[in-house]
Amino acid sequence: MSSASRRSLQLTLAILKPNVVSHPHLVHQIKELIHQKEFLFIRSKRMHLPRARVEDFYREHEGRFFYNRLVSFMSSGPISTHILARENAIAEWRKLMGATKVFKTIHEDPNSIRGQFGLTDTRNSTHGSDSDETALKEMNFFFPEFDVEDWYRESERHFLTGDVYFDEEHDIHRYKLNHAKLKS
Ligand code: ADP
Repeated sequence: MSSASRRSLQLTLAILKPNVVSHPHLVHQIKELIHQKEFLFIRSKRMHLPRARVEDFYREHEGRFFYNRLVSFMSSGPISTHILARENAIAEWRKLMGATKVFKTIHEDPNSIRGQFGLTDTRNSTHGSDSDETALKEMNFFFPEFDVEDWYRESERHFLTGDVYFDEEHDIHRYKLNHAKLKS
């Protein structure tokens, strides 16, 4: 993949929810859509969160009528979490996901991920951070070992100027250092 046209990369936290991860062919299809939109997978991790961790993650929704349903669902099976990078990643990932309410999204935005793969307003297939601040918090929640500042200092420019390829085994993009370009 050539990345010469990218100017700067924003990071966001994406989750494929249990209704997707329980069907490998859906994971495959959604990842294809993510690749088509030229997101880079910076980190990927599959996990099955205990209920208490999910409660922490969705703390802001505590007390809402759907909270219990949401927490039960998100702790019902494995999820796939990803740090994605792209120009304008937060807004672009939310655009690709489609709006929260699946039954509306199926009609209004049928090509979005939730429009295609969402089952209900709760089991709506994906999650995406809604701001830089939330993205930082959420990346830290799932990838506490990932140092955002370090990544911008050491890696961003290589993803912008180097040759980037996808490492299928680890589910992440990597870059090859391109010394000719780096020198110029
Ligand atoms: P989003 O995930 O689109 O940012 P929210 O942060 O508002 O949306 O909600 C978090 C999650 O809670 C949603 O993705 C969905 O799984 C669930 N949820 C939100 N609103 C509802 C609702 N009205 N009914 C059922 N589940 C909901």
